[in-house]
Amino acid sequence: MTDGPGTGEQTQMRPSAASVRLLLIGPPGAGKGTQGARVAEAYEVEHIAAGDLLRHEVESESEIGTQAAAAMQRGELVPDALVFDLVMPKVIAAGRAGGYVLDGFPRSLAQAHEGRPAFEESQVAVNLAIELEAPPEELVPRLLERARSEGRPDDTPEVIRARLDVFDEEVEPLLGFYRDLGLLRTVDATGTPDEVWARVRAVVETG
Ligand code: AMP
Repeated sequence: MTDGPGTGEQTQMRPSAASVRLLLIGPPGAGKGTQGARVAEAYEVEHIAAGDLLRHEVESESEIGTQAAAAMQRGELVPDALVFDLVMPKVIAAGRAGGYVLDGFPRSLAQAHEGRPAFEESQVAVNLAIELEAPPEELVPRLLERARSEGRPDDTPEVIRARLDVFDEEVEPLLGFYRDLGLLRTVDATGTPDEVWARVRAVVETG
């Protein structure tokens, strides 16, 4: 996995001492999960994927999962209150413990606004947002392939279309929020995971 802690030999690629508190923004299939996992491993921060957390709740038939399932099946966003209850405590804990990479949260301007006071109060606000950009003709085949290999219930052609539509509706205001804060960078998410990772890493290094 990663280098052992406390050896003094760790490959610390990020030049500054600032912790990595990164938000990945991108349409379904852009590689947020794959790149998020790589960021987490390389910088030893927690990978917090809202969709994964929600799927876990649905599978375990918890109260949150029961309330979230219908919207997820339709490819729509689940109510903000549910996502905040589930995700925010984890973000704050990870931020205090050294950093995080967020995948899929905040996912709308409303969530970014609503989360801001808690983020700032705990001094764990996002300090870099990376937009993973890829055209639909590259995304849909990736998602259909993922449906074959992972069997995610919301990776059907119909629901994929709905999720891409929801993303298109929500993304511009969300990007604007981080652009206005001077935190937004855009990365070309076409090509292989290794190619995209090289671009992501370069941005994390230079900020
Ligand atoms: P993802 O794994 O990121 O593609 O998310 C799968 C599904 O989980 C989405 O289609 C939404 O229904 C739900 N979801 C994930 N993150 C959020 C969020 N921040 N706010 C609301 N719904 C979300």
